[in-house]
Amino acid sequence: MEIRYRSTRGGAEVSASEAILKGLSDDGGLFVPARIPKLAISIEDLVQMTYQEIAYEVMSRFLTDFTEEELKSCIRSAYDSKFDTPELTPLVKAGGAYYLELFHGPTIAFKDMALSILPYLMTTAAKKNKSDKKIVILTATSGDTGKAAMAGFADVPGTEIIVFYPKDGVSEVQEKQMVTQRGDNTHVVAIKGNFDDAQSAVKEMFNDRQMNEEIGRAGCQFSSANSINIGRLVPQIVYYVYAYTRLVREGEITSGDPINVTVPTGNFGNILAAYYAKRMGLPVKTLICASNENKVLYDFFQTGEYNRNRDFILTSSPSMDILISSNLERLIYQLTGNDPAACAAFMADLTQKGVYRITDEMKAQLGDFYGGYAGEEENFAGIKKLYQDTGYVIDTHTGVASAVYGQYVKNTGDQTPTVIASTASPFKFADAVIGAIDPTKAEGKSGLACIDLLARTAGLEEPPAITDIRTAPVRHNTVVEAADMPKAVLEILGIR
Ligand SMILES: *Cc1c(COP(=O)(O)O)cnc(C)c1O
Repeated sequence: MEIRYRSTRGGAEVSASEAILKGLSDDGGLFVPARIPKLAISIEDLVQMTYQEIAYEVMSRFLTDFTEEELKSCIRSAYDSKFDTPELTPLVKAGGAYYLELFHGPTIAFKDMALSILPYLMTTAAKKNKSDKKIVILTATSGDTGKAAMAGFADVPGTEIIVFYPKDGVSEVQEKQMVTQRGDNTHVVAIKGNFDDAQSAVKEMFNDRQMNEEIGRAGCQFSSANSINIGRLVPQIVYYVYAYTRLVREGEITSGDPINVTVPTGNFGNILAAYYAKRMGLPVKTLICASNENKVLYDFFQTGEYNRNRDFILTSSPSMDILISSNLERLIYQLTGNDPAACAAFMADLTQKGVYRITDEMKAQLGDFYGGYAGEEENFAGIKKLYQDTGYVIDTHTGVASAVYGQYVKNTGDQTPTVIASTASPFKFADAVIGAIDPTKAEGKSGLACIDLLARTAGLEEPPAITDIRTAPVRHNTVVEAADMPKAVLEILGIR
């Protein structure tokens, strides 16, 4: 049966391909499936399948207007030797949990899992909808999305991609990866501001009718590679299903047994995908939402109040330095009983006052979630302990998840097997990671010196994505005020 998509703030329903092509609804809302489909085959059958086969089983349930051939072709093109292991997302048992390594793609962070397929989904969607406009991808990044999106869209015919990142808000490796990006259709702009400033300005451009008409006359249309695009979320459901099947296959659990999932969270996209996996029928018990010191989500789960009026803290897990978690809107919509007017009212409060409070009735439906947060010291101590106990090295984002999982077990005594989403390679945040496991050796060193040190200390091989940036020339060096982002876009497109 066809699944239609509607905006969290009202409006007409669209097909999956239209939702992917548009990215964000005209009313500023996010597209959500009108219902969450169930898995069509048994866990026992899924256990026998490869990642790519599972991807088809999951994604075909949501993207119902793609033909089998179209979707399989997208999956084939995306999940190939760009990944440095045939399993794509290995599951590693360490320190009493299962780390789902989502960083074996071309940019060594989990964004690759969705962004290596999104360009194929989008160009297929454009063909299906007979759109002959050039697709202009506008992307705000807290560090990892930008590179992964550019790697996916570089030199894809009919597309142009513009990435905005906070000038002082990303790691050295993240910045280097972005400013060395190749491809004539890729553009990188640093902004004087933080991630929320970048994301808000991008959303405003999507909703700016005049600007949309202007670029329309020039033969262009905007779309999004951020997780506000449903085409980002659907591919992320796959690896939770995959992880479950590997636990069964390896005899760690029996089919039907519950698992917990812990996700280091920023924009609430990755954990929402895990929640969708649960609603598809995957036996997931608790979704543990881990925040860093920017703990808006932790406070929200505690109190039912979402309050972004607070200081923005720069941490060693920059991809989670976010105060406006966009995808929470999709959950809020559901908590209202799919009431777009009620959802729009909460979001208007968030924009105007920076705060909203959900009703008790809505809060009572949050039982699937557990919110926690970890500060820098707890994070570093956890990374060090895991390394000392097991030799396994995790990055600073995964470290936050690991620390919060530790708190969860302590507070609840729940021994359910738990999958921790490991969202980045430790090499991407080598300064902080080596600083955590061997502070004496790390002292006074930064950047590439820390990468060498990490490789030697942990006996790990440097990933090709890092070797690349050692020699790649800088191709992008634009810096603008957040307020000048629209102007930068029009200039890049040669419109003004
Ligand atoms: C983007 C990112 C996150 C946060 O994921 P969301 O889907 O935004 O919640 C966590 N860790 C890393 C390394 C990331 O790149």
